[in-house]
Amino acid sequence: CGFVAIVGRPNVGKSTLLNQLLGQKVSITSKKPQTTRHRILGIDTEGAYQTVYVDTPGLHIEEKRAINRLMNRAATSSLGDVAMVVFVVDGTHWTKDDEMVLGKLRGLKCPIVLAINKVDQIKDKEALLPHLEFLGSQMKFTHVLPISARKGDNVEKIREWAKEWLPENDHFFP
Ligand code: GDP
Repeated sequence: CGFVAIVGRPNVGKSTLLNQLLGQKVSITSKKPQTTRHRILGIDTEGAYQTVYVDTPGLHIEEKRAINRLMNRAATSSLGDVAMVVFVVDGTHWTKDDEMVLGKLRGLKCPIVLAINKVDQIKDKEALLPHLEFLGSQMKFTHVLPISARKGDNVEKIREWAKEWLPENDHFFP
C-alpha cells in the first residue's frame, strides 16, 4: 500500500508536523537536529480512509560521517512506495541541504506538496518570494502550502490531499 512521506533536512519541523497530522505524540521532536533516526509510521484512520505517514530521517548533505550516510540512505529508500510526498522546508532558514533534498525528489512521479513551515516566525513574507521562485523553477509542485506545524495552521490541508492521492482512492490508481 502507498504512504505519505514527510521529507526535509533536519530541524525543519517534520516530527512536529507528523504529531499534528496524527493529533497525538508519536515521534520525537527536539531543538537538536538528527533526533529522528528511524522511520516512524503513524496511521490516521478516519471513516473509510487510512493514511499511513512516514517520518523520514533528515537528509544530510555532508556524507563524511557514517551516521550521515546511513541516514541519507534510509531517507531515500523510504521513497520507493510513496503515494504523496510532503517536502518540508523552514520558511525562516533556507540552506543548501534543502536543495539537496529537492534533488532527491526529482523524477518522482507522485504528487509533491511543498510545505513552507514556521510561517508563524516569518515577519517579512516578501522575503520568501525569491526562494519560492527558485524552488518553483526547479520543480513543479502539486501544491505550495505555508504552514505552522507548531500551531497546526493549514495542516488539515495535507490530510485532505493525502486522502485524495492515496491508492485506496480508485480515481488515482484505477
Ligand atoms: P525535524 O528534525 O524536521 O523533525 O524537526 P522537529 O519537528 O524536531 O522541529 C525542530 C524545531 O523546530 C523544534 O524546536 C520545533 O519546536 C520547531 N518547530 C517546528 N515547527 C514549527 C513551527 O511551525 N513554528 C515554529 N516557530 N517552530 C517550529
